[in-house]
Amino acid sequence: FNNGGPTARKKIALNLNVQTNNFKNKNKVSIQEQRRKLPIFEKRNKLLELIRRHNTLIILGETGSGKTTQIPQYINSARLQNNGKIGITQPRRVAAISVAMRVAQEVGDAVGVGETVGYTVRFEDVTSPRTKIKYLTDGMLLREAMVDNLLMEYTFIILDEAHERTIHTDVLFGIVKQAQKAREEKKLRPLKILIMSATMDVDHFSDYFNNCRAVYLEGRTYPVNVYYTLTTHEDYQTACVATFFKIHQQAPWDHDVLIFLTGQEEIEAVAQQIRILSRDPDVAGPSVKVCPLYASQPTTQQITVFQPAPENTRKVIIATNVAETSITISGIRYVIDSGMVKARTYHPATGLDMLKVQRISQEQSWQRTGRAGREAEGYCYRIYTRSQYEHMQKSTIPEIQRANLSIVVIQLLALGIHAASFDFMDKPPKDSILAAFEQLKLLGAVETVDSRTLTTLGKKMVQFPLDPRFSKILLSAQEYGCLEEILTIVSLLSGESIFLNPSSKREQAMTSRQKFLSPYGDHITLLNAFRVYNNLGSNSQRSWCHEHYLNMRNMSYAAQVRTQLLEVCQRLKLPIVSCGNDTEPVRKCLLAGLFMNVAELHKEKQYITLDKRQVVNIHPSSVIHGQQPQFVLFTEVVQTSKCYLRGLTTIESQWLYDIVPDYARSHIRFNKDI
Ligand code: ADP
Ligand code: MG
Repeated sequence: FNNGGPTARKKIALNLNVQTNNFKNKNKVSIQEQRRKLPIFEKRNKLLELIRRHNTLIILGETGSGKTTQIPQYINSARLQNNGKIGITQPRRVAAISVAMRVAQEVGDAVGVGETVGYTVRFEDVTSPRTKIKYLTDGMLLREAMVDNLLMEYTFIILDEAHERTIHTDVLFGIVKQAQKAREEKKLRPLKILIMSATMDVDHFSDYFNNCRAVYLEGRTYPVNVYYTLTTHEDYQTACVATFFKIHQQAPWDHDVLIFLTGQEEIEAVAQQIRILSRDPDVAGPSVKVCPLYASQPTTQQITVFQPAPENTRKVIIATNVAETSITISGIRYVIDSGMVKARTYHPATGLDMLKVQRISQEQSWQRTGRAGREAEGYCYRIYTRSQYEHMQKSTIPEIQRANLSIVVIQLLALGIHAASFDFMDKPPKDSILAAFEQLKLLGAVETVDSRTLTTLGKKMVQFPLDPRFSKILLSAQEYGCLEEILTIVSLLSGESIFLNPSSKREQAMTSRQKFLSPYGDHITLLNAFRVYNNLGSNSQRSWCHEHYLNMRNMSYAAQVRTQLLEVCQRLKLPIVSCGNDTEPVRKCLLAGLFMNVAELHKEKQYITLDKRQVVNIHPSSVIHGQQPQFVLFTEVVQTSKCYLRGLTTIESQWLYDIVPDYARSHIRFNKDI
């Protein structure tokens, strides 16, 4: 901090409605005792009564009050679900998994998760026919709805974290509402709907769900002291680290710290910095236990986040927005809020879906602040100025109003619904729906923009839990004879990057990977890396990844995804063939799905996207950074100071004419005007 640390510009006492459960207590309290201490426990009977009485109910309660973990168990032990399942949706896989594991423990099944309590997330299904309480991502429930739109397996659907308003949750609202009504009309067993959140616009939700009743779970409150920085900080990561060490040198060792950052790469970098600095003999303070927390983490690592640190050790959790409301960790007394979040945003004007680090909303900033005051008075350091706070949006815009809708449109079509006539809680812009239809038409999934049905190809596309462009690539592989290769590439693109690029060792990292870097770009490079990895014995995989600065975890996740996608391909009877070392079929095949993601060299290092004539640059992390191929296709756009393309493959313009002649004729312009 330039000004000698954050200054108390304003102290705000938060009225957070949280009870003093789990006060940091390093003595073991039994798991059942912990359950009884939750604020929700004394409301149990009243809640069950309301749930019996109402078919749809909104339940509001502060983060950590016990909604997600307890309510399904209450329903289960009162046997309200009546032989059906209780499905609880979560916007994020990391939350679905970690909550299911916790609840399995609470239920006390000897085999653990996968029996009475299970979870289903993309590429992973840990349930059994005996599962009663099933946590699943909203995207997975939507996929189940495509098989059975009445969701007959369930007698309860709990739409959790409803305030997050992810695309899938918004679609689910309509699907579940419709299923409830249809089951009533057909006199099938009733479907009960619970909508839960820590924070939401109750009136808006109640209006949409036929004026349903809302209940509030009350609890105790603790004030949180909020500090703003005096000046703005471009480099918020460094500011977070500096703030951490200021706290670290003064606060008692058992006051844990939670830092909010945006994604895996950033979180790992800050974690490493804190580990190194905390070992420096010149830095005062107790030992430090660093716990990263983000989406694509292995489950074993997620559990350590909940374990108290040993004596004389401070725990610091470095998390994405998953720790805002989805996952509660006890012991936190300090929050450091970078004020940033990574979000996917679609710009109809540019035609690009971007993963962009952006400012959070005021609502999110208060949720983050609240994490410091669950058990006692806490402190929140905001790495932004008061004026920056005032300029934040009040609340987060629903994703459906800012993201590429092609996946929503195709899923609704699989259910026989045209997105324009769907009962959305908040309608997405007409232009976005139209753009999605146009994209699907170009991909061959629909015949016209008014279609209410999918083409044969479209029906195959929805079998994959992927963006339609990637499903199209997999389905095109037959024609190019390269399904083996394409399966690998698509799997690797479905998780986080396998490449580690520590800023201090960028050169070494690049040199170590020389053997499999491809002049044809990042996707072929990914393929080469995976091939070597896959041919190694499991004993040598770890050291090989380490030597080549590759993330072993993400690599094995990709292998797991590949198995799942392979199963879908086999079900669709696609021939699993390889094109060997020839890269051309692979590159053409990628183009068959990603022709809308092509850029042409414009002038010195600058590219223009063919689709919307947007000026872009090649990201420095790309293997073809520094070269200037005439045409490239890309899989990601990131906006920092400039607009960058990441994940590139070199292509030839002729291929575009061969694959999508009409599109090529109307988009390749020989003058280089923007
Ligand atoms: P809510 O959904 O209302 O935010 P939860 O049901 O998620 O609350 O959490 C209730 C309590 O259970 C919290 O105090 C939390 O600390 C604890 N808890 C949840 N998951 C775990 C876990 N994996 N390990 C230990 N405690 C947990
Ligand atoms: Mg919850």
